[in-house]
Amino acid sequence: ESALLTVAHLKKYYPVQAGFLRKTVGYVKAVDDVSFTVQRGETLGLVGESGCGKTTLGRTILRALDPTAGYVGLRLPGGETVDLARLGPRELRAVRRHAQMVFQDPYSSLNPRMTVLDTVSEPLRLSGMAQGPALVSRVKDLLHVVGLEVRHLNRYPHAFSGGQRQRIGIARALATNPSLIVADEAVSALDVSIQAQILNLMQDLQREFGLAYLFISHDLSVIEHLSDRVAVMYVGQIVERAGNAALFSQPLHPYTAALLASKPHPDPRQRNTGIPLSGEIPDLAALPSGCPFHPRCPFAQDRCRIEKPPLREVHPDHFAACHFAGELPLSN
Ligand code: SF4
Repeated sequence: ESALLTVAHLKKYYPVQAGFLRKTVGYVKAVDDVSFTVQRGETLGLVGESGCGKTTLGRTILRALDPTAGYVGLRLPGGETVDLARLGPRELRAVRRHAQMVFQDPYSSLNPRMTVLDTVSEPLRLSGMAQGPALVSRVKDLLHVVGLEVRHLNRYPHAFSGGQRQRIGIARALATNPSLIVADEAVSALDVSIQAQILNLMQDLQREFGLAYLFISHDLSVIEHLSDRVAVMYVGQIVERAGNAALFSQPLHPYTAALLASKPHPDPRQRNTGIPLSGEIPDLAALPSGCPFHPRCPFAQDRCRIEKPPLREVHPDHFAACHFAGELPLSN
């Protein structure tokens, strides 16, 4: 059976214009030739520092942004696969219900003038899936599913805590029975104890409804906790992709190793790869030559400054974009 989501060679470039005539002088490559799949019912974690294109990637996949190039195949429940990257507005409306989004900030992503009922029912109304009493009863069911009391139906977002608001956001995303949810930093704005509750809820919902998640986060602990497979993004590109255990126990890309080294760990003897993550993310409009990580990489050689390493399969189902992947002393 083919994947639920197949992203192939996806690009999102923004022209950089200069001068009186607004001539295009270059491109910000926010998403640059990204490929991966998400299987039905699984969680793919997408991790990287903020500013490396993760949010743009999520939004481009769901066509909140139009891609510059590439393919985004979404398998519909009937078995047909559509290319979200190429659909026109009308076709897009018809399939949008199968792939929904949960946003980072539950404080700003909910409309303050819409009640819980209006907020959660909006996707149902937009897709023509329910109306009248059926719609209200569906929203009540959804509130129950995400652990909110039905008496909150006619309240406004300001009456809720951050965690409750994120439950409303999740209920809204679930309303149309999607098979895929793109969650963009869905717990990053919440306190740690609330984070755990929301993550547990999302895992329960995944089991109950067979949902697949593309879970975007800068937080490695969250990604490790939740993901079946992980993709690491750096300056608009996937630099490593592997199953959870392989990625966290045996990183093959120095960037991944540096992210792991910067992550606090309960046992300091573990995961101390000794690779500090120094320097800043480069300007996406003026990427370094060769390997884009070379200015920050402690293993960089002359070749790295000239030749861009392709993402290649170093071990079975473990991909890395580094000339020396598998030869560097990265794991403990
Ligand atoms: Fe470092 Fe070179 Fe590998 Fe890039 S290709 S990550 S610069 S060793």
